[in-house]
Amino acid sequence: MVSDFAHVASNLQGVLSAISREAAALGRSTPRLVAVSKTFPAEAISEAYKQGQRHFGENYIQELISKSESLKAECPDIKWHYIGNIQTNKIKQLARVHNLAYVESIDSVKHAVTLSSALSGSTNKLNVFLQVNTSNEEGKGGVNPDAAAETAKEIVQSAPNVTLAGLMTIGSLLESRRDDQNADFLRLVDTRKKVAEALQIAENDLELSMGMSSDFLIAIKSGSTNVRVGSSIFGNRVYKN
Ligand SMILES: *Cc1c(COP(=O)(O)O)cnc(C)c1O
Repeated sequence: MVSDFAHVASNLQGVLSAISREAAALGRSTPRLVAVSKTFPAEAISEAYKQGQRHFGENYIQELISKSESLKAECPDIKWHYIGNIQTNKIKQLARVHNLAYVESIDSVKHAVTLSSALSGSTNKLNVFLQVNTSNEEGKGGVNPDAAAETAKEIVQSAPNVTLAGLMTIGSLLESRRDDQNADFLRLVDTRKKVAEALQIAENDLELSMGMSSDFLIAIKSGSTNVRVGSSIFGNRVYKN
């Protein structure tokens, strides 16, 4: 029987080659692709895994838990990225997810500290990104760009079991429709400069997670090292209820 997710393999190859073509044209190393699999079944993920894809992103804790459990045997080398809103009372569950590699949506010192304590006793540090609300939209996750440096510094000082790998942003829908540049991405680049200064590290020691299906090429132009692409790989999402 032909899999319902046969399109995933060819979509994935298309996205991967667009990413590497863009990076090569810019003389940069190829950004990491996080395949955002939210709402799609485990079968779609294993289809991409068979093609060599290892990093997958999920937005909902419950969904991440059940997929990570059901794919444990089939995809032993999978690397999960949590990219959804964080609630303090779900952090313990999040910390226990099998093969969790990145939490991209840390947006407060408190969440970082809680996550760090939930990880105590584990051998490897967990990579986190500090989410920045570059578009300054109400109701959107992330710290204000002006607060990012101070927040980053406190996270580094007070959350020993996590590694601050970089900054993440989602950006506004309006900016994502522009095909010349994206002001939110430029704001994240600028914010990284300030965070690196505050931490006394090189800018390149901090990754930038930005770019989705509609704007990952512009994100790469702006310096993204981690793009999060969902619908261009898996298809359009259908939300229940
Ligand atoms: C859903 C989602 C994506 C992927 O969006 P697409 O437009 O489907 O590529 C990326 N990042 C976050 C935080 C998301 O929630």
